[in-house]
Formats: sequence, structure tokens, C-alpha cells
Amino acid sequence: MDEVTGLFDRAKAIIPGGVSSPVRAFGSVGGAPVFIARAHGPHVVDVHGHEYVDLVASWGPALLGHAHPEVVEAVQAAAARGLSFGAPTSAEVELAEAVRARVPMAQQVRFVSTGTEATMTAVRLARGATGRDLIVKFAGCYHGHSDALLAAAGSGVATQGLPGSAGVTRAATADTVVVEFNDVEALSRVFEEQGDRIAAVITEGAPANMGVVPPAAGFNAAIREITSRHGALMIVDEVLTGFRVHPSGWLGLEGGYEPDLVTYGKVIGGGMPLAALAGGAELMQLLAPVGPVYQAGTLSGNPLATAAGLATLRLADDSVYRVVDARSAELRRAVGDALTAASVPHVVQTAGNLFSVFFREEAVSNYEDAKAQDTGAFARFFHAMLDQRVALPPSAFEAWFLTAAHDDAAMDRIVRALPSAARAASGA
Ligand SMILES: *Cc1c(COP(=O)(O)O)cnc(C)c1O
Repeated sequence: MDEVTGLFDRAKAIIPGGVSSPVRAFGSVGGAPVFIARAHGPHVVDVHGHEYVDLVASWGPALLGHAHPEVVEAVQAAAARGLSFGAPTSAEVELAEAVRARVPMAQQVRFVSTGTEATMTAVRLARGATGRDLIVKFAGCYHGHSDALLAAAGSGVATQGLPGSAGVTRAATADTVVVEFNDVEALSRVFEEQGDRIAAVITEGAPANMGVVPPAAGFNAAIREITSRHGALMIVDEVLTGFRVHPSGWLGLEGGYEPDLVTYGKVIGGGMPLAALAGGAELMQLLAPVGPVYQAGTLSGNPLATAAGLATLRLADDSVYRVVDARSAELRRAVGDALTAASVPHVVQTAGNLFSVFFREEAVSNYEDAKAQDTGAFARFFHAMLDQRVALPPSAFEAWFLTAAHDDAAMDRIVRALPSAARAASGA
């Protein structure tokens, strides 16, 4: 038996579900996941040597395309100097300065390894700063897998969080209030009732983990106004949108309000494990070792990861965003046309260059809407695209990711695959 035969069976025998993160298992589209051997530019290549045009982009980080030569070179050079020191480095300072140059409110930056750690730390910092316990999150927003943020909504537009996973205790989510996204009235009511107990509201700048559901005009500004009025903090989670939708993330794209804390991940690490939280100096200095809010990490600010992040941000100039924006618009149009031609009910929703396709007629403004779509149609569409060697995110609730490396040839391969995939989605 060669080493790729039965790889998924071997994987499942030794790794739960055969994967290191659940969505990779194809659970919501069925079938066996594609094992990737390597990637370059807009392509991923599986263990059998089949090349796919990739629309996952490692779930966002590959803004420049996979294995950009200058990013790879920066990582190789850093590796040759040593993998990890457990001591400060100049690259961390440069990367933090690069973040602040793009996002002025990010006066100070703390690096961690995952988006989960970034949001978890932001929540702890908000609680430490305010001396309050409650956190408000929105249903359908994903902030990683820390216990307090794995809270699910009960029934109703604003409820005390319920454990969103086995193993999360009621106590861990008892201080998390879950509110329907885009519902200012429900948020106001929560603050009227418990405003003096709320440490922070956390929200995705533009949610893209329930499919893409942009905030209604004025929604984020309303969060800012309500939190300020009640002495609570506003945390904008830009782990997905940060440095992807605009040189300064969703905050740069939307503008008009300033949160207290912002979290980054994905693009900031350029494909390596790196994430960050950032905010005003006074608030950030409440973190250890200056302040009383403890936070630490053996591999935080890892030299290979900071090298990849720094190279990525240096290369991600305005022209990169122009290309990704244009490719995104091109693909949105082509997908919409193909689904319309095949009479498949759909709505394409956009947040900057992020978009997703909901297989339903009406616009989606919250998680309840997002769930009311034809996920079976998506699964058929997904597999028909995969059969034609175009790799979409394997779930109807994920954004599609373009990169600056998606050239005419790659776009052409996607566009040519769309009509038959749309027919498959229609069930005809
Ligand atoms: C991916 C993501 C996270 C979690 O980041 P990890 O690095 O997977 O822990 C948090 N928030 C948002 C908005 C994300 O998209």
C-alpha cells in the first residue's frame, strides 16, 4: 500500500475525525476531505498530484497567494537564525509598528499564537479594566473556541448564553449574554437591564463565520455609542477581516467609530500561527507585566511567524487590495449569473472583498436567517466544483477567499466550472 492510499481511514484511526480542526472533515458537505501536499499561488495540490484552484486560502491568511516567494524566503531566513528564543526580538517591534501604521487606534499590540487566544485575552482584559463580569456577543459570530465565547443563544433575541459545546460548563457561559446580530433594540434592552454589569460587547467587524453578514448601516456605530454610554468596552474581532478587506481591516473600510480593542489573526501571520490584540496604550498596559491582567505564551511572537507576518504586511500594498477586490467582484458576478441561469434561489452577500453565497431567496441579516438556507444545494454545488478541481470552503456558512495570485487562468477555470455546478445545485 502506498502512503496515500486510504489516508483518510488512517487519519480517522489515529486523529479524531481524521482532522486537526472540524470543518476540514467535510462533515457538512459529505464525502472524504482532500489531503493537500503543497500549494502555490492560487492553487493547492493534493496527495495524488491533482491541482485545484483554491478559494479557501487557508481560511484567509493567504492574501498574497500560497507560498509567496518573498514570504517563504523571509521564513527560511528566520528559521536559519533559530526557531524560537523565548526572548524579545526586533521583528516583533517592527510588526507591531506595522500594525499601528495601518490602524492608528492600535497604539499597543500584544502578540499571541491563535485568534482564540487573542479574543480570550481581550475579554479578560475588558473584565480586568472594568471590574465587571458580563460579556455580550452576537449569535453566529465566531470568536474562537474559548469557553466563555462558545456560548449559544437560547430562544429569544437576547438570552443568557448556554454552553455551545459539551465540556463547557454553565458557569463558563453564565456571564455571556447572546444577542441577535443587527438588532440594536435588543442590545439596548440588555444594556438598560444590566448595563452596569457589562464589561464589553464583542463583535466581528463584519461577520463572516455564518456566511458573510455585513453589519447594517450604523450598527457598529450604535454598539460604540451604547457601550460608551454605559462604561463598557467595544471589542472588534478582526481575526478574519483584519488586513484582508482593506489595508487597515474592516475598521478602515467602514470607518466612523473607534473600538477599545481589536483582535487580529489569519493574515497578520501570513500563514503561520500568529495573532494579536491591540488597543489604546492605557488599556493595553493593564496586561502583564505592566498591569494586573495576566497573559503569556511560550511561542508568542515566534520569530518564524513574525517574519511571515511582517513580509506579508510589507507586500500587501494598495495594488494587492485592488486586485483581490476586483477578482472578488468578478467572481460574485459570475456565480450569481450561473445560479440565476440554473434557476437556483440564492443571495450573494459581500463585506469588502469577502463574500458568500446563501442558497435562499431573501437577504440574510442574522444567524436565524443564515440557518434557513438549502445546505443540500450547497453540498451539490460544492462537490460539482470540486470534481472540476475548484476547491470551495466545505460549508455553506463560510466566506469564499480570493488572493492576489488569482490570475486570469485561475479565474477562467473557476468560471468555466460554474454552470454545471449551478445545475447540480438545482437538483436538475
Ligand atoms: C478564525 C477566527 C477566530 C479564531 O482564530 P483561531 O486562530 O482559529 O483560533 C476568531 N475570530 C474570528 C472572527 C475568526 O474568523
